[in-house]
Amino acid sequence: MTIEVLSFGCRLNAAESDAMRAEAVAAGHRDLILVNTCAVTSDAAAQARKAIRRSARERPGSRIVVTGCAAQIEPAAFAALPRVAAVIGNAEKTSPQTWRDLDAPGAGPIRVGDIMAARSVGAAVAAREAARTRALLQVQNGCDHRCTFCVIPFGRGNSRSVPLAEVAEQARRLAGDGVREIVLTGVDITSYGSDLRGAPRLGALVKAILAAAPDLQRLRLSSIDSVEADDDLLDALATEPRLMPHLHLSLQAGDDLVLKRMKRRHGRADAIAFCERVRAARPEVVFGADLIAGFPTETEAMFARSLDLVAECGLTHLHVFPFSPRPGTPAARMPPVPRNAVRDRAARLREAGEAALVAHLAAEVGARRDVLVERGGTGRTPGFAPVRFPRPVEAGTVLSATIAGHDGRHLLAA
Ligand code: SF4
Repeated sequence: MTIEVLSFGCRLNAAESDAMRAEAVAAGHRDLILVNTCAVTSDAAAQARKAIRRSARERPGSRIVVTGCAAQIEPAAFAALPRVAAVIGNAEKTSPQTWRDLDAPGAGPIRVGDIMAARSVGAAVAAREAARTRALLQVQNGCDHRCTFCVIPFGRGNSRSVPLAEVAEQARRLAGDGVREIVLTGVDITSYGSDLRGAPRLGALVKAILAAAPDLQRLRLSSIDSVEADDDLLDALATEPRLMPHLHLSLQAGDDLVLKRMKRRHGRADAIAFCERVRAARPEVVFGADLIAGFPTETEAMFARSLDLVAECGLTHLHVFPFSPRPGTPAARMPPVPRNAVRDRAARLREAGEAALVAHLAAEVGARRDVLVERGGTGRTPGFAPVRFPRPVEAGTVLSATIAGHDGRHLLAA
């Protein structure tokens, strides 16, 4: 009799999965399969459906509870799958009451509220990972933007933030509990605070956390929207060594017309200027980025501008998404790029990303880096490069290591 959690998608979903398991256990449940779905691509939703059917076959005695963005958007479709006892909305899933009432008489299978009516984050989650040395700390949920390819706002609702003092206090407690690194997570963390009194921005939050938690060794940001980065954030990057010099940017494309058709808020020149400005303030900064290949109407020339953005911005960690139309989005009604061209462009972007990563790893050889040791003799540098140690090292420690080489994916410590 166990509670099995199948978590799909982003770090926020992973953190919420941990919180849901704890609430389900606290409510006395013992034989459940929790499926926390993702809707970012059609494939992600299909994988969750497949996992539900497999679980129903392999664990016929267990009840399946489904939640997450795909379930929020299509609750009836998930409720119709075999052995699904309940479909729970994204705003309801981390609430203790939801799990206490799971078996309430007459509750019905679908318990999904209007996500656009959500006005608070509710129970903000903090989940430990990497041998409990790193914690994901939720500071925000939802998104006010409406990029033409994206369904996330329909799964997560509009942007809402966790009050600054609450986040700072959670960070202080986590650092007191021995957490070495906190990763601030959400859906669109650069819109942090827009719904709070006094509208504190992400930079103010970062500074408040570092002031409230002097024991915290490392603070990291999950993905940010460069055009929304505030001056305080850039100042913190320049002056706060505990703020990790690693930014994962939601760039999506390198061509201005494609960015316009995506309804992004930045242009190509803005992205390049942002990276230059941050690099001038913090030379050791490492950039990652999300890029979509094959957005509708993208020509070969437009794609070439995404490809050369890798060098222009000095990107190292690429997350490449072959465009997949999401039903109901404006982009799904635009003239598509042929599938084989989408696949081919995604492969070329990944190649460019791998070459950039290898160049970055090679440039690290000979350097000394403070590595947060996770488990199994591995860890991460401040720039988020994975490191392998040649001998067992204690998880949860930050070691100053000399980089002796790399294997194309990991740095190798001396
Ligand atoms: S900023 Fe755009 S891509 Fe990101 S969650 Fe919001 S709508 Fe989606």
